[in-house]
Amino acid sequence: MLSSAMRITIQTKLFFSHFAAIILVSGSVGTYFYQSAIDNLTQALRSRLQNSAALVSQGLGEVKLDQVRHPEDRILPVYKQSVSLLQEFVKANPDIAFIYVMRREEENVSFVLDSDSDDPAMPGELYPHHVPALMEGFVRASVDEEITQDRWGSFLSGYSPLEAGDGVYLVGIDMYANEVESKLKEIRIAGMLSFVLSLLLAMIFSRYLSLNFTQRIVALMDRFSTIAPEQFVQPSTNSGDELNQLAQSFNQMAERLESSRSEIEVNQEALRDAHDELEQRVKARTSELLRTNEQLRDEIAERTRMEMKLEEISRTDYLTGILNRRAITQRLEALAESALNEDDSFCIILIDLDHFKEINDSFGHDVGDQTLKHAVERLRNGVRDSDLLGRWGGEEFLIMSPQTSLDEAEGLAQRLCQSLAGSRVEAGNESVSVTGSFGVSRFRPGKDDLDTCLKRTDDALYSAKTRGRNCIVVSDAD
Ligand code: GH3
Ligand code: MG
Ligand code: MG
Repeated sequence: MLSSAMRITIQTKLFFSHFAAIILVSGSVGTYFYQSAIDNLTQALRSRLQNSAALVSQGLGEVKLDQVRHPEDRILPVYKQSVSLLQEFVKANPDIAFIYVMRREEENVSFVLDSDSDDPAMPGELYPHHVPALMEGFVRASVDEEITQDRWGSFLSGYSPLEAGDGVYLVGIDMYANEVESKLKEIRIAGMLSFVLSLLLAMIFSRYLSLNFTQRIVALMDRFSTIAPEQFVQPSTNSGDELNQLAQSFNQMAERLESSRSEIEVNQEALRDAHDELEQRVKARTSELLRTNEQLRDEIAERTRMEMKLEEISRTDYLTGILNRRAITQRLEALAESALNEDDSFCIILIDLDHFKEINDSFGHDVGDQTLKHAVERLRNGVRDSDLLGRWGGEEFLIMSPQTSLDEAEGLAQRLCQSLAGSRVEAGNESVSVTGSFGVSRFRPGKDDLDTCLKRTDDALYSAKTRGRNCIVVSDAD
């Protein structure tokens, strides 16, 4: 008996199931044919015995056997002739044991003739056995249903009524039971052989089928063990057959897949969180950068403002707020250059306040400063939009008039001179008058450079001083 711990492989199971099925089918078919072969043979033997008995009966013909009743009747010619006929028939048929003729009187059956030469039944010897086929044989041809045993041995016998016997005589033919057996034996041997052959074929066929089927399972398992070696259930004594093993492996793999899936989901969740956090950080960083940018922009704008302021300061006179000497000089240089290129001229007016030292001395330096501011105010109000006013030195100022003729410049200087002279500086209790001397000249492209022109203007201013101040002198170079 198989213990539950024993491992029966699917191949073994398949082998035995196929084997059993094939043996069952071939056994049924084989048994049927075997049985019919036995039946046929038995039937053929019985027919033969029956027919042979009929044949012998014909051979005996109209023979009269009524006088053959006692052992001593064996000397009668009819007895001798008939027995030798029977013996010839036995000789011609080696499988026949004995042929005899019997007589029936009432229920008694006795021998008349017997082909046996060694131990013949005597005429008149009663046959003690009651055999139904034998009794039937007096009326019609018949044969034993089974082997019958008597003092001569075991036989299968056939019977036929003697033609001229009137139902009183019959011919019996015995075939030895072992002769019958030997004929049946051939069939049994053939049956055994075919049984052994079918066993062999069933084994081969079952093995082929089970191998063919399991090969694919084994291939599947091999493939599985390659794909997922850690989930592969190694064959053990109590792991059932290969299908069980494969099912277990698949279950383990399914569990592993499930846990991998949940692991992936957890990781994805973590990834999403990390992504969200990163996005928030990026947002925070971006707004921080935007703020920094804005600050930078503000700082740059502030710096630009400061630079512009510095630039303005660098070109502005601190006291009066008009262009300082450096700035007005740059403008003059630029204008002189463009005038040279475009063959255009401009005019320069130099102004020097008269007796300014005395103002300082008489009213103090602060009043002097206020006077300077006052003078600038007057000059600034008097010049045109296109003119540029700058402080040239302590109490000296310069006006640059682009695209202006000498006459126009002189007219401008006149107006400014009068405006200055007509005004007074109110400082505290003091009321101070102020005048200025003006020198005017024109820059002549191609003839002048800037220094020459400035020098001529300064000369004109000097002439104005010498002429008594509060007046205008136009350079006579033109
Ligand atoms: P002149 O009519 O010949 O020009 O006489 P002046 O006194 O104006 O001549 P000078 O050029 O000698 O004197 C100029 C004075 O101006 C000298 C200086 O002290 C004064 N001064 C120069 N710059 C300033 C300033 O910014 N403020 C004040 N209050 N005085 C100044
Ligand atoms: Mg001066
Ligand atoms: Mg002066």
